[in-house]
Amino acid sequence: MKKAEKSKIAFPHMGTISYAWRAALRKLGVEAYIPPYTNKRTLSVGTKYSPESICLPYKLILGNFIEALEGGCDYVSMITSPGICRLGEYGQSIENVLKDLGYENRYLELSLYDGFKGMYDFLGKANPEANFFRKIESIYTVINFVFSLDKMASVLSYYRAREEKFGQAEQAFNKGLELIDKAQSVRELRKAEREAVRMIKQTPIDRNREVLYVDITGEIYIVLDFFSNQNINRELGRMGVQTRTSLTVSSFLKDAILPKWMKKGETHLERAFRLAKPYLMRDIGGDSLESVSDVAYANERGIDGIIHISPFTCMPEIVSQNIFPKMRENCDIPILTLIMDEQTGKAGYITRLEAFTDLMKRRKRKKNTENTIKEGV
Ligand code: SF4
Repeated sequence: MKKAEKSKIAFPHMGTISYAWRAALRKLGVEAYIPPYTNKRTLSVGTKYSPESICLPYKLILGNFIEALEGGCDYVSMITSPGICRLGEYGQSIENVLKDLGYENRYLELSLYDGFKGMYDFLGKANPEANFFRKIESIYTVINFVFSLDKMASVLSYYRAREEKFGQAEQAFNKGLELIDKAQSVRELRKAEREAVRMIKQTPIDRNREVLYVDITGEIYIVLDFFSNQNINRELGRMGVQTRTSLTVSSFLKDAILPKWMKKGETHLERAFRLAKPYLMRDIGGDSLESVSDVAYANERGIDGIIHISPFTCMPEIVSQNIFPKMRENCDIPILTLIMDEQTGKAGYITRLEAFTDLMKRRKRKKNTENTIKEGV
């Protein structure tokens, strides 16, 4: 391995996660290499070297890696799991493809399912010279950055659904990301986060707009990746829908690496086991348990709808989708299921979102009318 301070390490994109990795690697004394955000070329390069029927995230991650190595990074790395689904095969398969392409010994694996130890061991591989304190500081940094980024995303969602001129809240959010990226310490991060949130909150909004509330669930990569989900949050925001998801990196970290004493209340995974129980009794891989329980959770809160989004051929999410009809017996909430692959066209996709939004609007108005009549009686 090259000397740590000279090596550049890349992670695959997934939403805004690259900001957190860059900060964490900087603390470790290693440079992060950020490949271009996932785009059509990434997909085409990834697809070219992927097994035909593998799921979409694999193709995009491989595409990110090839673009990073072509661009001059030294190592690529990703999270793996022992996995019931194909995620368990990703690491070995990607390593083999990269070797065939002439990039031997350039793959570092992060086994986050080993919890805190997995993260600590990975940082040791990324910089074998880093001492204990440096690695702990790096973990502390990544956790704090992830929480700040998720907080900003949820503020953005509120303002985007109500903004007077479409795009302003996202512009402020992007400026906020630049501030976050410059933060050299957690103290500077706090300051940057406050400023970023303040900027988003300055977006002029229409407080009387009829806003719908929708949860997004499904396979975590697709839920968080703007390219493969065709920026679903932005499209729904344009239609006056405030979105929310429990499948965030911060909630994943709470379950995967935070010690119990640092967690407040029930975590997403704990809630998933509790609420999925009547329909799904065990973890079948991916985010199936979370998806099923998220439908029950959305129903419990009486929100307007839930969208389940997953990659084509994703086994765990095919199971979730087959459980939803049964859930409808107990859950009175509109559910839209979207399956994404490299062929998904934008126009048809937007039409489905618009139709779903119309349905939720009509349903909400009808409910409000019924409640008014009841109150008047
Ligand atoms: S959860 Fe689905 S998309 Fe993700 S790795 Fe497993 S099978 Fe593939």
